Amino acid sequence: MWWPAAFKCFKALCRVNYALTALVLGAFSGWVQAADYSGPLFDAHLHYNEEAWNGQAGPHPLGDVLARMQRNGVQAIVANSRPNDGTKALAEAREATRAAGVTVVPFIRLYRNRADYTNWFQDESIYAMVQAEFARGTAAGPYRGIGEFHLYDSANANGPVAKKLMLFAQDQQLAVLAHVDDVAIDLLLAHAPKARLIWAHTGIGGASVERVEALFTKYPQLMGELSYRPGLTCGDGALCPEWRALLLKYPTRFLIGSDTWINQRWLYYDDLMRGYRRWLGDLPPAVARRIAWDNGAALFLTPRP
Ligand SMILES: [Zn+2]
Repeated sequence: MWWPAAFKCFKALCRVNYALTALVLGAFSGWVQAADYSGPLFDAHLHYNEEAWNGQAGPHPLGDVLARMQRNGVQAIVANSRPNDGTKALAEAREATRAAGVTVVPFIRLYRNRADYTNWFQDESIYAMVQAEFARGTAAGPYRGIGEFHLYDSANANGPVAKKLMLFAQDQQLAVLAHVDDVAIDLLLAHAPKARLIWAHTGIGGASVERVEALFTKYPQLMGELSYRPGLTCGDGALCPEWRALLLKYPTRFLIGSDTWINQRWLYYDDLMRGYRRWLGDLPPAVARRIAWDNGAALFLTPRP
């Protein structure tokens, strides 16, 4: 449970102080909820993969996933799915998404199947697929990004198709959602220094807070998505101090996401969003709102120049 710094206390005095504080704050109904962020959420890392819906019925049909978004206050999503049919299904469900209050921001996934995960960076047929998808667009409007892609060996950031896709993204002002290590961030941005790179999980591979900060300083257009980020929260779901400091230093550079890469993530979607609301509540309200919603909205919900 989060307590305002002003109410922190020590040892024996603690219980008494907490009880008094609870009494005082309890007079204003809903004070516990007030500590959590309660505004809109922009889920900037969402997959609607084949196994989630299986063409239509699946364990998580459209109505199910939209209901999960709606009840959690998720009002916009970056949809990227293996294969792209899942994203197209979301984009085409105009009436249902409108009713759920969810705006779909489509990204082109590079993966037609699981085999593509490990070879996309040198597979010309994937480059051709991305071109065709981009030309086609979606019922929810043009694609706004590519990815999520993975690089299990950062050297593959120099693969011919990786390089071509970075340049394509830069030319077309498409964001790039990349699950890579810190070394690959440098390599990818060397190809296309003006590309808008969203670092999925912001250094899940072990980049320290200091390393993340150095890259954010070096690349002003680099954004960080925070699902699965080790060390982000401590014990009770509160922000760890060093991450809180980084979010406060770069409030315009972070996004949240569900990363529904397996069906289990859909099952726990409520818990994931509750977890975000919990630690967002540790931040000043304006900063929480930026990370929860404004940063994604600024990237994707404003008309392109
Ligand atoms: Zn993912």
